Amino acid sequence: MLNRNLVNLSTETAFSVLDKASKLQKSGKTIINLGIGQPDFSTPEHIVEAGVRALRDGAHGYSPSLGIIPLREAVNEDLSERYGFCPPISRIQITPGGKPIIFIAAMIYGGKGNEIILPNPSFPIYESAVAYSGAKPIFYKLRESKGFSFDADEILSKITNRTTLIMLNTPHNPTGGVTPPSEIKKLTEGLAEYPNITVFSDEIYDRLVFDTPPHSLLCYPEIRDRLIILNGWSKTYAMTGWRVGFGIWPESTIEFADKLGINYHSCVNTAAQYAALTATTGEQTCVENMRIAFRRRARLITKNLNKIRGIECQMPGGAFYAFPNISKLDISSEILQAQLLEEYGVAALAGTAFGTYGEGFIRFSSANSDILIQEACDKLEQLCHNYM
Ligand code: PLP
Repeated sequence: MLNRNLVNLSTETAFSVLDKASKLQKSGKTIINLGIGQPDFSTPEHIVEAGVRALRDGAHGYSPSLGIIPLREAVNEDLSERYGFCPPISRIQITPGGKPIIFIAAMIYGGKGNEIILPNPSFPIYESAVAYSGAKPIFYKLRESKGFSFDADEILSKITNRTTLIMLNTPHNPTGGVTPPSEIKKLTEGLAEYPNITVFSDEIYDRLVFDTPPHSLLCYPEIRDRLIILNGWSKTYAMTGWRVGFGIWPESTIEFADKLGINYHSCVNTAAQYAALTATTGEQTCVENMRIAFRRRARLITKNLNKIRGIECQMPGGAFYAFPNISKLDISSEILQAQLLEEYGVAALAGTAFGTYGEGFIRFSSANSDILIQEACDKLEQLCHNYM
């Protein structure tokens, strides 16, 4: 008999679409990949050099389970400088990518009988990890009419005496929505009545915002001692394959996060941590250049999608996704995803890959060249003709 909770575990469609797209490519088909959420830029040279240098200098062994001290100090200094506050390094854990922080949080705050409040649509691992832990996922809807920002009152209305954790993600995957500080403030003030509830803020796209300054839940003193932050180097520095991320935990649970980390992965690839250190402490023009490129592409993709009859797309506030509404077409998101890939050679993801409220939407990653983004939109337009 296998673990009964395995039936609750789901997956990330982005990886199966990537797999399928690679197979089609190998069979000779030309594919435009707007499916997977990773920058199409290479890791900046000075960061690669730091990783190589670390290997040459002998960074071959295990390192401390919570991460090398200089990297945790660099995270602390960077966040303190950018957001005016960061908890001490004793609360910072370096992990293989930001993703493990989701699973670890679900293991600590989940379990049978507990409820965890999370966005829908959202990064699919939230629901998967929460359900696997045995806790009940309670969804709040992100609405197109609100620019896919969360609604503080709606979140507060979902709280019961079983709620242990509230999950937030802004800038948001898959919609590119950015929640305004006024809504965050409303939520943190409302949470004063619920001192035992922890807030989980996934800020992996915090520096990829287009027209507003970067923002963090760290800016709200009222919840600082019951806040989990997820962030990392994958998106900001084009380092998805290096697998370095971090979590900041409440004083009361860092011990468990560390134990779970030791059980799962011991420590993070040591040379990759040195590369991340250089990324954080080195020059930041690479981050700004990528941000500007993503903003230009976000405008391009939104403009092109809005030209297509039957499609409406909001300009994303951040991250590198567009989440057009396709509900006027006579086709489901999943069938559109399949046809777009198999018949038109464009990899994109059905909105339902991110939850039930994703029906009627499709996610395009704008992590591709302007020309190919344009071409992908043209192909989508051809497909749409069949369903209007
Ligand atoms: N959180 C969100 C919202 C994401 O979109 C992703 C990756 O796509 C992650 C976390 C995980 O990032 P990493 O690759 O650093 O594990």
